[in-house]
Amino acid sequence: MTHNDRKKTTDLKNGLSSAEVASSREQCGNNILQEAKRESIWKKIFIQLTEITSLILLFAVFLSAYMALSFDGGWTKPIVIGSIVVLNVMIGLYQEHSAEKSLAALRDLSEPTAQVIRDGTSQRIAISDVVVGDVVTLNAGDQVPADGALKQVKGLTIDEAILTGESEPVEKTTKTPETAPVSIGDQVDKAFSGTLVTQGSGIMIVSAIGMKTEIGKIADLLNTTKKHKTALQQRLSRLSLIMTFIAIASGVLIFFLSTLHDLGSPIDNLMIGVSLAVAAVPETLPVIVTISLSVGVQKMAQRNAIIRRLNSVETIGSVDIIASDKTGTLTQNEMAITRLWSFSNEKPENIESGQALSDSAVELMRLFALDTNAIINGKHAEGDATELAIIRLLQQHQLSRAHFEKDAPRINERPFSSEKKTMATFHKLNNGHFLLIVKGALDKLPINLSKADNKKLSRIHDEFANDALRVLGVAYREFDDQPQEPLESLEVELTFAGIIGLIDPPRPEAKKAVTQAKEAGIKTIMITGDHKVTARAIASQIGIYQDGDLAVSGSDLSKWNDQMLAERIDKASVFARVSPEDKIRIVKAWQQKGKVVAMTGDGVNDAPALKAADVGIAMGVTGTEVAKGASDLILTDDNFATIIEAVSSGRTIYQNVLKAIEFLVSVNFAQIFLMVGSVLFGWGVPLIAEQLLLINVLADGIPGFYLSREPGEKRAMQQPPIPSDQSIFSNGVGMRMFTRSAIYTVLTLTIYALGRFLLTDNNSPVGATMLFLTLALGSMIDIYPIKVRGPLTWSSIRSNSTLNIALLVAACIILAVALIPPLQSSFGLVKLTGLQWVISLLAMFIPTILLEINKKIHLRLSK
Ligand code: ATP
Repeated sequence: MTHNDRKKTTDLKNGLSSAEVASSREQCGNNILQEAKRESIWKKIFIQLTEITSLILLFAVFLSAYMALSFDGGWTKPIVIGSIVVLNVMIGLYQEHSAEKSLAALRDLSEPTAQVIRDGTSQRIAISDVVVGDVVTLNAGDQVPADGALKQVKGLTIDEAILTGESEPVEKTTKTPETAPVSIGDQVDKAFSGTLVTQGSGIMIVSAIGMKTEIGKIADLLNTTKKHKTALQQRLSRLSLIMTFIAIASGVLIFFLSTLHDLGSPIDNLMIGVSLAVAAVPETLPVIVTISLSVGVQKMAQRNAIIRRLNSVETIGSVDIIASDKTGTLTQNEMAITRLWSFSNEKPENIESGQALSDSAVELMRLFALDTNAIINGKHAEGDATELAIIRLLQQHQLSRAHFEKDAPRINERPFSSEKKTMATFHKLNNGHFLLIVKGALDKLPINLSKADNKKLSRIHDEFANDALRVLGVAYREFDDQPQEPLESLEVELTFAGIIGLIDPPRPEAKKAVTQAKEAGIKTIMITGDHKVTARAIASQIGIYQDGDLAVSGSDLSKWNDQMLAERIDKASVFARVSPEDKIRIVKAWQQKGKVVAMTGDGVNDAPALKAADVGIAMGVTGTEVAKGASDLILTDDNFATIIEAVSSGRTIYQNVLKAIEFLVSVNFAQIFLMVGSVLFGWGVPLIAEQLLLINVLADGIPGFYLSREPGEKRAMQQPPIPSDQSIFSNGVGMRMFTRSAIYTVLTLTIYALGRFLLTDNNSPVGATMLFLTLALGSMIDIYPIKVRGPLTWSSIRSNSTLNIALLVAACIILAVALIPPLQSSFGLVKLTGLQWVISLLAMFIPTILLEINKKIHLRLSK
């Protein structure tokens, strides 16, 4: 059976059976676009080997092998350096692999879904599971999962820009065009994979999936787009380029200096130069960012925040403004009707559980019931929270929509839209008349009331809204005969019937999250489709709105030009009845003030605002695929508190990168100063190539790598956001690096001199062994004062167990090399006396102690 034969067999109501799905999948495969070919392991090794460090190391291997062959210099050197090359490549491959793995897992998490009918039931499945022959229901906000023929449409329009470049959405029909279509845009009776439903709904039968779809045909093109480096990755690449230059220059310098001072054979000197270059090249630096980003992104996913673009991890840490939706994000979206008012009554009535509804209340609820689409079937609930509240109240009083529809079957409807904020239904009454019902936001209902009634209505509305109730009004109009005009044009001069008030309590964690945001220098603003008074009441409960703030409505906003908006936006903490266009204006107004803005959204129309924001955040539960596709971050629990967690993770990642830089770069500089200084003092080169390389691999690379798994510090969320363009070396980082370099330079030169001239009579191997131990172990343990910005405590030392284990292993290797005779000699070390051991081991704590004292002084000064 081919792709084409399959589609004939599907029945629209029941869709495919499980057996048919399985057989279709067997024949046509999975609905995936082939990804760009994965790099083979050999290619990865090749890439690792052609990195600058590996190249320099390989040069050293060849040089020492040449010496072994030509001058019988012994094979230890080439073997040791060769092993270091292998170790380096292995560490590089492991790091790359772990980064790739977590990013791939993330891609799976953010895979879009589609609604299909199978075995007679409607279900949501991952797009990759869609098969040829599937019946797919398309709704506004969906991503079309495959190519297919449309069988039913209701005002369906689809944005096909991804295929055609045409930004105007195309109106779809089920009729085949009379003239054979030439382009994709002309095929109005088909829907194509990857395109986006902007309005209406439809049903299609899948005719092609995966690489057979139109988008599959251009998938190669999509695959060739290069991986873009994030801003931080770019900055670090630049930094490591500069460091590499300095490293090579110092290698060359040490070669010339030692040759000038006639300290060894030119080949020995070359070897030292090469090793110094290798030791000082910060090869781990760019990898550290990638690892930190991917580890951080994985942690964020576990906490319900799925990052879609790596760049946003960095941006989210510097967010100044979070503009959040109210319903469902700051509130629970569990609505309940607590009060209602029939216009025929003088006063509103409270809904108490267990108490019967008054007749007027039942009459009011009849209108609401008829104009509602939500369904509750046992535990299964379908529909938006507002409507579910209506259905629940009816159920509590043994009423139902079906009950009322017996006398007034629905013959037409205009669905709820966020733009209109109302919904309309049209009914045929048993007496032969017709009834139009419109429910929705009170200020959007087309009703005509006397001045006095209007005043009363707005007083009661405000009473409801000030108690944080969402208010929904209902109005109607009767017709003797069936009107010919479209529904929308009938929605005028309606008779007002009454209102209901719904509570939607704030999420319990929202208030704390808003406070945390404030402490972290972030302003939270509420953006909602709800009424200003309701929104303000909830905003003040959560701590977003304070006395003196502005609550702005969409109509206020439309009267303000950009300049007025810019002047007032600092004071505005609530924006109510806003349109998607308003959202963009709010984002832009803040951005023009140089602020980094995060904005949430869920609907199709939110996509442009999500794109305009620095961090677009889509709702995972209630959000449309379109919103998710336009976002940088998806909240799988729709929860505001998750955004704050994501900010905290973003800041932790940035801080960990800074810590890694501080850790790696300062000792690299110290090694350069040590070598050059020693030669200038006329002591020759204190460390040989193998020693330098071992320190570099074990004491730098491994601890630096595990620094990326460092948990966040509380302090990070008690400080204002760091501007994304701020220099890496600001905030004392540069100064601390200088201090650490200086400490190590002085310490290592002193230890060397002590071992060589004071404790022995010019025994340079003893000096070198003591120096080796102090430098290797000292630069490992002083990761502790670096990894915590606050004072070092026992619990912060224990907080990162992977780092502790890595350090322990690395320290054991260093000790083994210094103690076990064959290893000792391979690395040019000698046996030390007890006193020499004690001095070296005590000296290794000096940098940690000094760094900690330095930190304490700075912390006290900054207070
Ligand atoms: P937020 O933007 O905070 O998430 P929201 O998305 O709930 O709020 P909308 O859905 O645009 O905002 O709702 C705005 C208004 O529309 C509500 O205040 C209510 O008056 C009205 N409304 C909401 N749902 C319905 C519905 N199903 N039928 C009729 N009117 C509705």
